[in-house]
Amino acid sequence: MAIFAFVFGAVFGSFLNVCIYRLPRSLSIVKPGSYCPNCSKPIEWFDNIPFFGYLILRGRCRRCHKKINPRYVLVELLTASLFLALYLHFGFSASFFVFGLFILGLILVTFIDWEHYLIPDLVVYPGIVLGLLFNFLFPQMAFSASRLFALKEAAIGVLVGGGSLYLIALIGQLVLKKEAMGGGDIKLLAMIGAFLGWKSVLVSIFFGSLIGAVISILLIFIGLKKRTDYIPFGPYLSLGAVIALFYKGSVFLGYYQI
Ligand SMILES: [Zn+2]
Repeated sequence: MAIFAFVFGAVFGSFLNVCIYRLPRSLSIVKPGSYCPNCSKPIEWFDNIPFFGYLILRGRCRRCHKKINPRYVLVELLTASLFLALYLHFGFSASFFVFGLFILGLILVTFIDWEHYLIPDLVVYPGIVLGLLFNFLFPQMAFSASRLFALKEAAIGVLVGGGSLYLIALIGQLVLKKEAMGGGDIKLLAMIGAFLGWKSVLVSIFFGSLIGAVISILLIFIGLKKRTDYIPFGPYLSLGAVIALFYKGSVFLGYYQI
């Protein structure tokens, strides 16, 4: 079953790769099938199998021999590993599928923000609505037996997530006289709140800021980024949310599981 969860994640990771490339370019995510971004030739189904396709092709396009972005394998591996972790934490429960969907959204946001400095509304707005709805339908997500309690925690999460970053952005603007935080980050935190509740929003901000600061300083130190470069915050907030999710899952493991 653990292997199944991993493969299940890899397949979704493969689909995420399509979305990560096409969403910011306003291309359809359904048609046409996968193609090489360099030579535009369609990719055979057997070259498109997660991990193995990349290995068989030794990281190059079969037609034009252009190097395939290693991001494709990274996304597949990351999604597969997180789905495996979800299975080990929650088993094949409603929480597995709901948090699986949440993690897909986070990975999508992470890689699009990393490359394009934008967090698509197309992900976060439906994410906020779905997070609230799922908490009401499956209150075990909030480790509670009460639908109203779970919904309340999620609704406060949306307000705290949206509100706290808005406050930081406002202070940043007043003190630094420049935009410290994008509107996308605020919406992303609202989505995190909708899925995980308000306490986990604070955990996400804490770990996201901490890890973000450390990595940014490292990137500047080794010369990959300049002090003046824009550093997207979405990937770090997403990482913070994953930590918050599994932290919550560990503390409350065994309570109200189905
Ligand atoms: Zn090609």
